[in-house]
Formats: sequence, C-alpha cells, structure tokens
Amino acid sequence: MTENTSYSVSGFSGEGGFPIPTGLLIGAEWREGREGNRIDVLNPSTGETLTTIADGTVEDGIAAVDAASAAAAEWAATPPRKRATILLACYEAMVERADWLAYLISLENGKALPDARSEVMYAAEFFRWYAEEAVRINGELAMAPAGGNRIMVQYQPIGVSLLITPWNFPAAMATRKIAPALAAGCTCILKPATETPLTALAIGEILRNAGVPDGVVNIINTRKAGPVCSAILHDPRVRKLSFTGSTPVGRTLLKEAADSIISCSMELGGNAPFIVFDDADLDAAIEGAMVAKMRNGGEACTAANRFYVQEGIHDAFVEKLAARMGALKLGAGTDPATQCGAMINPKAVEKIQSLVDDAVAKGASIVLGGKPGEGPGFYYPPSVVTGIPDGAEILSDEIFGPVAAIRTFSDQEQAIAMANDTEYGLAAYVYTADLRRGLQVSERLEYGMVALNRGLVSDPAAPFGGVKQSGLGREGSHHGLIEFTEAKYIAVTW
Ligand code: NAD
Repeated sequence: MTENTSYSVSGFSGEGGFPIPTGLLIGAEWREGREGNRIDVLNPSTGETLTTIADGTVEDGIAAVDAASAAAAEWAATPPRKRATILLACYEAMVERADWLAYLISLENGKALPDARSEVMYAAEFFRWYAEEAVRINGELAMAPAGGNRIMVQYQPIGVSLLITPWNFPAAMATRKIAPALAAGCTCILKPATETPLTALAIGEILRNAGVPDGVVNIINTRKAGPVCSAILHDPRVRKLSFTGSTPVGRTLLKEAADSIISCSMELGGNAPFIVFDDADLDAAIEGAMVAKMRNGGEACTAANRFYVQEGIHDAFVEKLAARMGALKLGAGTDPATQCGAMINPKAVEKIQSLVDDAVAKGASIVLGGKPGEGPGFYYPPSVVTGIPDGAEILSDEIFGPVAAIRTFSDQEQAIAMANDTEYGLAAYVYTADLRRGLQVSERLEYGMVALNRGLVSDPAAPFGGVKQSGLGREGSHHGLIEFTEAKYIAVTW
C-alpha cells in the first residue's frame, strides 16, 4: 500500500496507535476500490475532514464474497479451541489499545472520551465472551416420542455472513457481530457506516495481527451501500445478514434478503420509555436517567426517548434532572473535559431541533437548552422539555440526541398503555421501590429488554434485541451465537 492509503491519528499522546489502512480489506490484502474513488471522513467536533477512505464498488463487494467463501471451509473446520484462542487474542489486542481506539472513536464520531472508552471495553468484551462460547456449541440428543429412533441435533456454521453496522457505536456494533460469527465458524464481510469507518478499519488490522486468517473477516466501505449490499445478498454463497441500523433501512434489507431466503438478524430503531413511579428512589432514578439519556450524547438505540413520570414525583424529578444535565460540559469529543460531545452531522442537529420545535408548538415547555450549540462542529446541548402533549412527534420518533422529553402519568395502567403506544419495542426502563409492581409492569411492557431500577441494559452476556419494529433475533449471550448457526437434525436408529 502507498503512503497516502493509511491514516495516522493526530493529537493522541499515548501509546498503542498505528497507521490505519484506509483501503478495502479483501482476503489477504488492503486494496483500493475498483473505480479508485475515495470517501471523506469528517470530525463532527470541528466539521473538518480527517482523511479519506476507499469507496468500494459492486465488483469489490463480490470480490469480498469470493474471499469469505474461499476461507469458509477451513475456518469452519478449525477446532473450536483454536478459534477461541484467536478470539481471546483479539480481546487482548483491543484492550491493549483501548485509549488509542477510544480517541479514534471520539475523533470520527464526536462522542465524549469516557463514552468512547466504555464502548471500547464493551466492544472488546464480545471477543472474550465469544471465545468462551466457541467451545460450548453443544448439540442435542433425544429419544423420539414414538421410541426407536433418536433425534440428534448439531449446530453448524450458517456460512458467509454480511454484517452491516451503524455509526453510533462504531466498535461495539462491529464486534457484537464479528465475534459470534467467528466463534460459530462463519466467515464474514463487514460493511461499516461511512460516517465512522476508521474504527472498523483499525479493528480489521488488529484482528489480522491477532491471528484471524486471511479472508475470514473482510471489510468494505462504500458510498453505494444499496447496490453493493444488494449484490452481496443476491450471491448464493451468502447465507446470513446481520444488520444494525434504522428501521426503514432494515425493512429495505429484509426485502432484499427475501429473494435468496437469507437468514436475517435485525437490530433496528428504538423509542424507549423511562417510567418513574412516585415511590422510586429519586436519586437512583436520576442516576439511571443520566445514563439512559446521556450515554453517547443520546445517540443510542436504547436511549430513553420518552420520560413518563408519576404526578407526585414529577416536579422534583424535572428539577434534579435539569440541574444534572445543565451541569454537563458540551464540547469536542477528544477534549478530556467534555461530558457531552458533538452529534454525528448537521442533519442530526436539525432533526433534534425540529422535534423540539414541534413539541413546543403543540404546547410543551423548555426547561433547559432547546437550541443548537455553537459551531463549527455539530452541537446540541443537553435539553429538558416538559408537558409533552399527545401527538407531539418527539413521542413517536427517535430523538437520537441529548433531549429529555418528559410528561406525567397518574396510574400504572396509563403508564403501561403510553409506554406500549409505539411501533418500536427495543428497551424500556422502570423505576419503583416496589419490586412486585416492577416485575408486573416489566412483564407487560412490549419490549425485548426492560431495565428495572437500572439505566443500562447492554451486556455481552445478555440477549440484546427488540420486538415489533425494533428487530428480529438477538445479539450477545449464547443466543447471539446460535444466530450464526443452522440446526442440523439427524434422524438415527441404532
Ligand atoms: P442507517 O440505517 O442509516 O445505517 C445503518 C447502516 O446501513 C450503515 O452502514 C449504512 O451505510 C447502511 N445502509 C444504509 N442504506 C442501506 C441500504 N440500502 N442497503 C444496505 N445498507 C445500507 O442507521 P444509522 O443512522 O447509521 O444508525 C442509527 C440507527 O441505528 C438508529 O435508528 C438506531 O436506533 C439504530 N441502532 C440500533 C441498534 C440496535 O441494537 N437495535 C444499535 C445501534 C443503532
């Protein structure tokens, strides 16, 4: 590779960095896209261009399938213990470079360094967890109910997998897919978000150096995500799509995958309710709200989108939350003093503002913030809006920013009805001192994940995923591994 096809992170004074290849990773090599085009990568904290990366074409996408397909049989036949050892080496290599990777994430995503550091550790943990799972892909054996024959089930690698990831967790969304795919014995093609490709490219290089064989992980960035992914999904050698991103793009991809009947795992958008009952521990609820709302500056699919606070505790909750959110320092992600970083792009800031304006026009009140921050970067300050009326778009759309939209409720039935009144069903939060009520409400919430007296659900050991239009399938835990396998049933009499 020539000199101008790698990127060296500037401004980082610690250790662990290396020049990041900015090409396409296909088989054993980093290469340019067939048409030689490049994509700009911006720093959202300043609006400046950091570098450019190779822009893959449809032919490059198929070349990645060739490489993944050529490596598939050998990787599937690699002993689970050996796959586990390589995955553990990936975990260690990421942890060793955690500070540098965190800085890189802050640079291209804009998030505050503490958020980026937590993401790196969370991302690395998927390699450790799936190193442990790789040697526990157990089958099943049962006597058929009629007697005589046995039902034997083996979980075999599903095959070449296309992994598509969003920009909001550029490391964790990639490793949450790569690690279980590799543990199960699958080879893959990663298509990262064009806004944050450098983290994925850096991880690609780390994996190669940690012993992942050529062709097992291929990475293709492209400005033509639709045609490139469509071509990959129509290649009969590809058997799996694992997508994390918005519900509309997920819907399009499900249609693309339908032609070849490809197995799909879809982690889509959210619209999380955060319910606080009168009897909740107020300080604990505020701590939880700060995590559920402000982690990643609100740019999380699990972010609390709608706060439903019972009438008796509402005013105290609003006052304390506004004080805590108002004290956060807004600034460039890479500035160590920053607690709330930049949004990903100007469009994100405009969308947040339009949701706030719509709520205010319909009768809501601004308690904190409510106007974009100063440029040249893409800033929106922590904001609190109360008295959200029925019909406000902020109740039905993902805010994806640091705005807490709050309204009251009077009783448990009303809280459950309002929380479930959405096509989404990813994460929900409940705060109450009454465990019996907390569990009853949790059972009735139509969500894939409920955090009861907690502000965070994510854990590599737990099944992450949504119901309704928030997705299909689960990532993390043993469930995440099974998504990359097919059950093979052998009917046998002996
Ligand atoms: P997005 O849907 O715009 O993009 C996601 C990925 O899909 C990107 O890599 C993008 O380039 C690619 N893409 C876009 N159009 C495509 C097409 N036609 N064919 C193939 N690929 C295509 O989402 P985003 O803006 O990057 O991320 C934010 C969204 O992701 C939010 O809705 C958020 O809730 C969701 N998200 C969900 C989870 C989860 O686990 N459920 C986690 C993180 C983010």
